[in-house]
Amino acid sequence: MVTSAHRMGVALLGATGSIGTSALRVLERQRDRFAAVALTANGNQQALAQLEDIWSPAYLGLVQEDVEAPAHWGRGPTSLVAAATHPDVQVVINAVVGAAGLDATLAALRAGKRVALANKETLVMAGHLVTKAATQFGGALVPVDSEHSAILQCLAGRRPDEVRRLVLTASGGPFRSWSAERIAEATVADALKHPTWQMGSKITIDSATLANKALEVIEAHHLFGVPYDRIDVVVHPQSIIHSFVEFVDGSVLAQMGVPSMELPILYALTWPERVPDSGVPSYDPVAQGALTFEAVRHDAFPMLQLGIEAGRLGGAAPAVYNAANEAAVARFLDGRLRFAGIARCVASALETLADRPGHTLDELQAADQAARLHVQDHPGE
Ligand code: NDP
Ligand code: MG
Repeated sequence: MVTSAHRMGVALLGATGSIGTSALRVLERQRDRFAAVALTANGNQQALAQLEDIWSPAYLGLVQEDVEAPAHWGRGPTSLVAAATHPDVQVVINAVVGAAGLDATLAALRAGKRVALANKETLVMAGHLVTKAATQFGGALVPVDSEHSAILQCLAGRRPDEVRRLVLTASGGPFRSWSAERIAEATVADALKHPTWQMGSKITIDSATLANKALEVIEAHHLFGVPYDRIDVVVHPQSIIHSFVEFVDGSVLAQMGVPSMELPILYALTWPERVPDSGVPSYDPVAQGALTFEAVRHDAFPMLQLGIEAGRLGGAAPAVYNAANEAAVARFLDGRLRFAGIARCVASALETLADRPGHTLDELQAADQAARLHVQDHPGE
């Protein structure tokens, strides 16, 4: 039995969200190994207060400043950095949604901590800065995203020159078999009905447009140092195979399991070790039945190719793609943009802004802001 003195301190950014809730279930089962030291939320004061009662963490942070909160809580966007760099924290689970998570990821890595990263937008926006911070200060960047966790597991013990190709699987989302015309008119309710995963609303819309897969291709490029022409995407509606790695001898390894984010969250905390009790039910191949695969219908899902091209361009283009997508998804969720307008807005932002410089954090943040303004002013048609 591990004593409490040996427990690793965890900061959970975005504790009130979908990944945050799954992460707390993991921490509950693994309480001999991990202690929740810091928890943050955006504006959901009530949910965070409930978590304080249950977990009694040393630090709580609420990002929105116009919401009433107890005097001892940290406030404002800097509370994410304060949680991530808390002296009793060794591992930061970044489960914030969107570019808002970037400063905390960089601060945690610069403080030499492990970052278990669900917040993929951070890596898309500033991939080279984040990966540099991960190698420079003795910390580690470990993916929570199920596809990247799968690849990390398949790559264990292998050298980079043994890898021929990464293949990310995609569920295909709720519109996998819809015609392009029908998809163009999809409602918010249609787009929020994901077939295999229960997630926050932003990533659920990203899964319906396949922007999520584009973000994941860029994420894989940065995490594993594999060029874009050796990263492929295949549709796999059952979400049992979480991704494949093909090696130079033609051998293909896949990581499989019942869809649950609790396993990749736990693996990100304990990597490279495996520990018992992930909470994931056994995979029963006979009960599950057939596993199927399809090619991506790029004509019906233009956001995938747009994002991969932004990744290939590099510079500020991925930051523009990410920010334009965030702004367009927010507009769609607000009922101020048709589903097809998401890709229109993002394509237009890229046409206008993709060749901006993106070397420094300031340049990337300026590109991010310009893309958000561009989408706000775009007619959407
Ligand atoms: P949710 O919307 O469910 O949760 C987001 C969390 O972040 C909430 O705690 C929210 O607080 C907080 N938050 C939102 N905006 C801000 C902000 N501007 N600043 C600080 N905190 C903020 O999202 P998910 O849990 O679904 O996703 C989180 C991240 O994980 C995303 O990057 C997503 O792409 C990624 N991911 C998610 C998966 C999933 O299964 N859900 C799978 C793989 C990756 P509050 O409750 O107060 O609003
Ligand atoms: Mg994923």
